[in-house]
Amino acid sequence: MPHVFLTGGSRGIGAAAVRRFAREGWRVSFCYENNAAAARALSAETGADGFRCDVSDPAAVKTLISSLPPVEVLINNAGISHVGLISQITPAQWDRLFAVNVRGIYSTVRAVLPAMLEAGSGCILNVSSMWGQVGASCEAAYSATKGAVDALTKALAKELGPSGIRVNAVSPGMIDTEMNAHLSAEDVQALADETPLGRIGTPEDVAEALWMLSRSPFVTGQILAVNGGLSIT
Ligand code: NDP
Repeated sequence: MPHVFLTGGSRGIGAAAVRRFAREGWRVSFCYENNAAAARALSAETGADGFRCDVSDPAAVKTLISSLPPVEVLINNAGISHVGLISQITPAQWDRLFAVNVRGIYSTVRAVLPAMLEAGSGCILNVSSMWGQVGASCEAAYSATKGAVDALTKALAKELGPSGIRVNAVSPGMIDTEMNAHLSAEDVQALADETPLGRIGTPEDVAEALWMLSRSPFVTGQILAVNGGLSIT
């Protein structure tokens, strides 16, 4: 049974991906930061194994992943956002965004690599954001982390391709999760109206793209937009 490990599996996009892979009969493991109740409920529903582990802590990530069976597909989904002017974000807030959104990937990749190298195959999927490509006003730090995720994805695809490991990213647009709870109904409607497909995305829309990329043996180094056409570059 193939094994997928996801970060940030307790809610939102990560939880939809847990369900998507579990439905295919995969062994699914995931980590989360705080929300043990949601993780427990998802484990009961899907049979997936959930673990509390902050991805910004490289030692904790290494310990967790070494305790699991070899990971065939790694999905780096855990992420946090911050809305505010560049003049107001504190150095600690800036560093926290990079520690979770970027260093988290560094840590998980290093932890899964020995088994993937030994197998001569593997698939790494990063969850970026549309704002990493086009930039979001008042989300400069978040946009910068996702730009870094894109560059990391492309660099790792080149570095790890010769070892049989594919590295891709999905780049969601506006997705209906708690990350966007701060937006008013009017703001959400305005974004849906701007979107060629006429709606905002669901976590399941992104999970489907992750599943598709996990099954695409000759695709690597790509950033797949999952945004209903909100941004077409
Ligand atoms: P949610 O806020 O709904 O869920 C975030 C998940 O990440 C939770 O499972 C949370 O765990 C986990 N998490 C947060 N910090 C850590 C950490 N330090 N260590 C481990 N797990 C952590 O987010 P979304 O589902 O909306 O977002 C998922 C990804 O998609 C993120 O990378 C985000 O940047 C990206 N994205 C989202 C978009 C959107 O519109 N929603 C658009 C573009 C990209 P816990 O439940 O314990 O808090």
